[in-house]
Amino acid sequence: MSVLSAPYFHNEEAAFAKLESVIWPEGPVCPHCGGTDKIYAIKPNLTKRIRYGLKKCGQCGKQFTVKVGTVFEHGRIPLCKFLQAAYLMCSSKKGVSAKQLERTLEVTYKTAWFLAHRIREAMRSGDLAPFGGNGGAVEADETFIGVEPGAKVKPGYQHKRKVLALVDRETKQVRSMVVDSLKPSTLGPILSANIAREARLMTDEARHYVPLGKAFASHETVHHGAEEYVRGAVHTNTAEGYFSIFKRGMKGVYQHCAKKHLHRYLAEFDFRYNEREALGVSDLLRTDRALSGIIGKRLTYSEPS
Ligand SMILES: [Zn+2]
Repeated sequence: MSVLSAPYFHNEEAAFAKLESVIWPEGPVCPHCGGTDKIYAIKPNLTKRIRYGLKKCGQCGKQFTVKVGTVFEHGRIPLCKFLQAAYLMCSSKKGVSAKQLERTLEVTYKTAWFLAHRIREAMRSGDLAPFGGNGGAVEADETFIGVEPGAKVKPGYQHKRKVLALVDRETKQVRSMVVDSLKPSTLGPILSANIAREARLMTDEARHYVPLGKAFASHETVHHGAEEYVRGAVHTNTAEGYFSIFKRGMKGVYQHCAKKHLHRYLAEFDFRYNEREALGVSDLLRTDRALSGIIGKRLTYSEPS
């Protein structure tokens, strides 16, 4: 026996039961009318096309499964493979490439790519509450990954793709995003939207943070150029630790990532970081939490790249 022997990784009926238990902990909810009272299970009919998990709502008369209205809705691949892919992506710290999923799940590369992006979409957090709400410390730091499409390579960082990460030290959560530039005019609205005014901002000495720090209760900096990394509670080491996991994953597993998809990879790394073992989240619990994020999200792209 192992984690991978669970029936829901191998059997469609069990896979539907598993997903239902995550999505509907209080029992089924009709996605058409919101009804919960008169929902009947329709037995998979062995003489016609088998439809696992099919239900009928006695209130509106419509049929549905737990996949309706989720990122899994239009996938043709068996749900147990979705669950296998979700587990693999949630349990490995640096992620799993579409190539690896192709081999392990025995699906085409295109299917593996779509699966992975659907799961990334499920991992995307809807939490927009600002960090540092109780006057806590929030680290802000940026890193560079790859080159902006079509940009000329010059000294400095203008041509590089830029990623900003914010860390709430109290809740130990990270929120990262792709940014078009490091100008105060670009970063200012992002910081204001994601960091509470009463927060204590911690950054390095980078000039773009100087005008932005005034929006918060305090702004303290460490001088990385002068090899100062920690001064009491003032540092950006948590954000840098996050970037190092992200970069190892992106270099080792996701070598080629189009800019238009970079935010989804960030959502994946943010999710695993925010649901990490050190915060008491097991691999299986992390997978359940990813699955609970499949509702109400839509994919708007169609090309693997
Ligand atoms: Zn209904």
